[in-house]
Amino acid sequence: LSDRLGGVFGKLTRQGALTDDDIATALREVRVALLEADVSLPVARNFVKSVTEKARGQAVTKSVTPGQQVVKIVHDELVHVLAGEGKSPELRIDNPPAPVLMVGLQGSGKTTTTAKLAKRLKDREGKRVLMASLDTRRPAAMEQLAVLGTQVGVDTLPIVPGQTPVQIANRAKQQATLGGYDVVMLDTAGRLHIDDELMAEVEAVRDAAKPRETLLVVDGLTGQDAVNVAEQFDGRVGISGVVLTRMDGDGRGGAALSMRAVTGKPIRFVGLGEKMDALEEFHPERIAGRILGMGDIVSLVEKARETLEAEQAERMMKRFQKGQFNMNDLKGQLEQMIKMGGMSGLMGMMPGMQKMSKQLDEAGLDDRMLRRQIALIDSMTKKERRNPDLLQASRKKRIAAGAGLEVSDLNKLLKMHRQMADVMKKMGGMGKKGLLRGGLG
Ligand code: GDP
Ligand code: MG
Repeated sequence: LSDRLGGVFGKLTRQGALTDDDIATALREVRVALLEADVSLPVARNFVKSVTEKARGQAVTKSVTPGQQVVKIVHDELVHVLAGEGKSPELRIDNPPAPVLMVGLQGSGKTTTTAKLAKRLKDREGKRVLMASLDTRRPAAMEQLAVLGTQVGVDTLPIVPGQTPVQIANRAKQQATLGGYDVVMLDTAGRLHIDDELMAEVEAVRDAAKPRETLLVVDGLTGQDAVNVAEQFDGRVGISGVVLTRMDGDGRGGAALSMRAVTGKPIRFVGLGEKMDALEEFHPERIAGRILGMGDIVSLVEKARETLEAEQAERMMKRFQKGQFNMNDLKGQLEQMIKMGGMSGLMGMMPGMQKMSKQLDEAGLDDRMLRRQIALIDSMTKKERRNPDLLQASRKKRIAAGAGLEVSDLNKLLKMHRQMADVMKKMGGMGKKGLLRGGLG
């Protein structure tokens, strides 16, 4: 990022006041740079707008160049947005035992962060903390927390098999009161994606536990996705703060900026590694410096993206190699495409599929279209999904009606499936000869 900005700001070396032209030139680059750092588009746009206004109002300074002035304004505004108004760095954990609810998707780092935070409260504030795992879905999850608890010297609620998350939450609160604990931390189960079941479970726990703090743990590497997750959790459950994990990763600060701007919730802590002491308070200046100043931020982001894309492609290739591609596979692909930002984006990544990607793009295959296609597949029977050739005219009508669409829509879907199955079959064969490796280098 700084390379890009450095170039622009470097050019603004003459002395004197900022002209509108200076500002416009510099901020165009700032906007692109923010987007490259995975800041969401509306956030980047707003950010540039407010910086423009502030830059226009700048007094003439003799000692610095216009370029330096813009950097300063951009930096200050970054800090301003990241810090938010009326920041409250302290967790509300007076009035013992104070329940702290940890929520988030599976793998975001909830359990790890629960233990890290418990250790921190114990070591720095001398709090007596009780941790409880409400993750009844994965048997190993409760043990994981117990092991971490032993490691950091924090008590965990004894495991009683067969209890619901709400029952465990109640037991934890009871135990915390009886045992004279200051804080009771509730580590909930996650899911791979937001779903109703998850939200209902977390809501029920919230109602039972009445948490003083509800901290959303999100993977800082998931960028824009992290912001969507935060919005949804806040909408359903209500969160009081955010913990961004894996900030030891590829160096993006963009998620932090979007998160702060979009949800308005304070980022309380930042996870900086797997070790139990790798949890820091959130320092807006540090992240701002990172967004602005890390010379190789762009290349780091690029590298991460490449890795992700290669992994995705490899997973797809494994499916092709089986030579199978029925409607269930297609549905899986469609869902993934929605997640990955559209079909054309995904197909464009595949060797030999760029042309198809362009066609799809031209056919207007956007998210809405993808969702309609999924609805069509959902209205088919299991048998039909495995073998769409079975579909007779009468069934086609029913399926289309079931999805609220026309038979022609269904025919288009079937045609697309045939085309894709064809391509996949061919590519499956080629894949065995290492086309993927060659293709993606
Ligand atoms: P949960 O499913 O949300 O409870 O996630 P876990 O706490 O089990 O964490 C999943 C994985 O992420 C574990 O291997 C953690 O060690 C790792 N992890 C959690 N936080 C961080 C972090 O800040 N940085 C890094 N590098 N890894 C982390
Ligand atoms: Mg967990």
